[in-house]
Amino acid sequence: MLVMSSPSGAGKTTLSRRLLALDPQIELSVSVTTRAKRAGEVDGRDYSFISREKFAAMRDGGALLEWAEVFGNYYGTPAQPVETALAEGRDVLFDIDWQGTQQLAEKMADDLVRIFILPPSADELAARLKRRAQDPAEVIAERMAQAAAEISHWPEYDYVLVNRDIEACEKEIVAILRAERLRRSRRKGLGSFVRDLQAEL
Ligand code: 5GP
Repeated sequence: MLVMSSPSGAGKTTLSRRLLALDPQIELSVSVTTRAKRAGEVDGRDYSFISREKFAAMRDGGALLEWAEVFGNYYGTPAQPVETALAEGRDVLFDIDWQGTQQLAEKMADDLVRIFILPPSADELAARLKRRAQDPAEVIAERMAQAAAEISHWPEYDYVLVNRDIEACEKEIVAILRAERLRRSRRKGLGSFVRDLQAEL
């Protein structure tokens, strides 16, 4: 389980799309949300856009692995697709905030790798939010104010990257993923390989 968190506008969505295109072994956990769909977003690909009633029913019925309220909307991770992917040996990428990351860490710490993405500067963050131009001005202002609160959670992550250049940042994420997959605890079949090797010595 690879989590990427960041303040809105740090480039996390672009980075996660690039990683998914690059690596067929990892798939995105598509969250459910009660927020309105932005232009260009596709229901079922970027999010499943659902009503507040449906969200409450999923949350109360135990169908969400984690959930949080962000900017007055609800977001959550449906448990079933993640459990299926993990059971079948596939990796899962999560684009979730610090609240959700804490909940995953409480439930499944051994399976979790957490990356936090920082913008290179406050000016660049503001410029990126404006360039996106999909949200009304008051939402952009609120997101800038929220960035400081989000960033305060950086020590809760295993890796913290500064997104100065999208290609360099992508390379760092690929390196993290590769190293984490090579951890002894994640190498299925390594124990029996070593035992066979020892038996032949
Ligand atoms: P946005 O509305 O810009 O797509 O997302 C706002 C924030 O909600 C982002 O920080 C994003 O990572 C977070 N988020 C998206 N889906 C989930 C989720 O399922 N759970 C949690 N906890 N946060 C989420």
